[in-house]
Formats: sequence, structure tokens, C-alpha cells
Amino acid sequence: MAEIIKINDNSWRIEDGFVRMFLLTGRDTALLVDSGATYPEARQIAESLTDKPLALLNTHSDPDHVSGNGAFSFYFMHPGDYPYYFEQGGPGNMMPLRDGDVLDLGGRPLKVFHIPGHTPGSVALLDINARVLISGDSVQNDNIFMFGPRRNIKEFIRSLERLNGLKDSFAEVWPSHGSFPVEPDLIDKLIEGARQIVDGKVSGTQTVWRDTPVMLYEFPYAGFICDI
Ligand SMILES: [Zn+2]
Repeated sequence: MAEIIKINDNSWRIEDGFVRMFLLTGRDTALLVDSGATYPEARQIAESLTDKPLALLNTHSDPDHVSGNGAFSFYFMHPGDYPYYFEQGGPGNMMPLRDGDVLDLGGRPLKVFHIPGHTPGSVALLDINARVLISGDSVQNDNIFMFGPRRNIKEFIRSLERLNGLKDSFAEVWPSHGSFPVEPDLIDKLIEGARQIVDGKVSGTQTVWRDTPVMLYEFPYAGFICDI
């Protein structure tokens, strides 16, 4: 069972144990941010919370964010993740998201930032009036997955530097994993940790993720799981 937690009058988080979805409502429409790891019924869960017309946006297309996509006739996704999504056999009907797009739910504009690195088409959403950054997997205090062919840690650093430059625009970060919420200062720390990994200044521990040998780099504020 998903745990549904009301954040404020127009925002909910839907926790499925491993990953977190968000439902955001405005005056006119509602937006589900991601559709979970094991929730083909994500749409019904969202519709039990609002009667506004509902759309879906994927922060990226890792399998733990797209399980309920098939219940929607279309969904917003950055084209950078289309190949990855199709590779997993995901159903089509994407509506392309571009950097700088603003989705307005009615008095609630959400600005899209393309932040490649964790995946090629990862996005963050700035809830402009609420001063909240919805960060997907890219800013969080759990383990950030950076192993496999589609990850790029140098791009990840550049994307987080860009978010860091926007820090005056948000007071809270709402991530898909780990603690909720997290402080914007976490972005600085993640940049520093990722740089240490790239520069070979920190040693990791070899471990296994679903039969794949990987390297875990643990910092006090988060971890990174990288290629060996
Ligand atoms: Zn995830």
C-alpha cells in the first residue's frame, strides 16, 4: 500500500517505500510527478485525491519512476530519456518537455530545468510561487545511481552547478528518495562529493546491485553508486 501524506493544501507525497511520487494541484489542473516503482494504479491513487484533470510528468525514466505510465494517454518527459524509456518497453505517447518550459496548473507555474547526468533526460521542476525545487533523483540524501551506460557524472556536476545558481529561487528541495524535504545546501555537498569521485580523491567500496558489481562511495550526506 502506498502511504499518502498531505504536504499542504495543494501538494501530496505518495510514498511507495522505495520511491516517492508527488501530486500537485493548481486552480485548474493537477500533475502527478512520476508514477512509482510498483504502482500501475498510480493514476487511481492520484484521482482519489483530486477531481481536477490529471496529467503525468516523469522526472526521468528509471524503472522506479514510470510503473504507472500506461494508465495515461500521454505524459510529459524530456526527449533525452526517450531511447532509455523505449529500451525498457515503456508505452509511447510522450509530450516533450524542454528546458525553460513552464507548466501552469492554474496560479501554480512550474518551470522545467533539464539536468542531465543521472539520466540524459532528467528534469527538475521549480514550483515558482511555493519556492520549492522538485529534484527527482539528482538531489537527494540516499544513494544516487551513477552506474551503467546512460549515466554521466561530469554532466551531473554541471547540472547541479546550474541548480546551485538558482538557489535564491527555492527554500526547500523535494526529492524522489531519502529524506523529505532536504535543504538546498545539499546541492553544494553533492557537487563536492561527485568532484572527489571524478578526481579519484575518495575511495569506494565494491558491492553488488542486482547482480551488477558496482562501487559505492559513501559520504555523510549521501552516497553515489558508480561503475567500477
Ligand atoms: Zn529513482
